[in-house]
Amino acid sequence: MNTKQSIIDAFKLKTPETSGCVPVTIFGGGVWMVRRLKREFDELLDDPQDYARLIVDATKELESPIVYVGSGYGNYLPAALGGTLKPHELGPPEMRAPIIKGSADELDALDVEMIENDPWIAKLREAARLVSNEIGKTHIVATTAYAPFTLAGQIYGVEELMRATMRKPAEVEKTLQFTTQVLKQFYRPLLQEKAITMACLADPTASGDLISARTFKNFGLAYLQEIIGWLKSQGVFTWLHICGDTADRLELIAQTGADCFSLDYKVNLVKAKEVLGGKTCIAGNVDPVKYFFNGTPDSVAEASRKCIAEAAGGGGFILTSGCDLPPTVKLENIQAMMKAACL
Ligand SMILES: [Zn+2]
Repeated sequence: MNTKQSIIDAFKLKTPETSGCVPVTIFGGGVWMVRRLKREFDELLDDPQDYARLIVDATKELESPIVYVGSGYGNYLPAALGGTLKPHELGPPEMRAPIIKGSADELDALDVEMIENDPWIAKLREAARLVSNEIGKTHIVATTAYAPFTLAGQIYGVEELMRATMRKPAEVEKTLQFTTQVLKQFYRPLLQEKAITMACLADPTASGDLISARTFKNFGLAYLQEIIGWLKSQGVFTWLHICGDTADRLELIAQTGADCFSLDYKVNLVKAKEVLGGKTCIAGNVDPVKYFFNGTPDSVAEASRKCIAEAAGGGGFILTSGCDLPPTVKLENIQAMMKAACL
């Protein structure tokens, strides 16, 4: 069976019991869920009960053991620090502009406790509590947020942050220290109340397509270690997702301490298992566009079985999509992956 316990066993690198199923879950899926019902992000979250209902129903319909509260709402955290959002026709809301205009010294005027005055952060946390009350016993309830490096890009400007890694490293360090504290502030009440089982950190800006392994090592890694170590010390599992090709930094990713690394379809699963096997659970990596978006249930099932053949042996593997689901994917394609885990 595809259960909460089967996912926890995978995190703990246990060999799955002989149920005939490989652990499988939806990854993220927030944009897909919101757009499927033709809803708007603000309008939906405005009533946390409505939002919680939507994601509980979708999770049950998909028979997914993990529910990602806040998936698609990643920019609401930097917005709570003084940024503004602009809606996107299909995708999630984007930052209208970076918060920092000139220098990281502007962060001195910001206090991480600012987010406590933001109604959207309160609503996101409330939704997590509601989901947890309803299905927390049978499902892994996770909240998603951007990891320190990506959150720094949203605040500092992604291109400006990249340039600063070469020219102004102190600016980057200062921003990363700040974003790590912001994340702790965001998660703290949920951890104290034991409202969540897992924290999901998405780090798209740490992708191999955007920064080198050396930059990841010099800037991203230490803050991932700090936030992941802190989250684990508070009793939750940690799920790290990095987009794009991360094959050149898998050894570094093992050092983050994350319970699970969710990798993109660009990474060869056999190689990932060689490096991460016995250290970190791997989740992946059916190509979201090629199979979920452009494919059929049969091609999704075939791609899923290929992932299983490459990486499920010995445990420590969860079948899922290689990145978040595109907004207009057909339900039957997602269901095909969920079913393929038990064939
Ligand atoms: Zn991704």
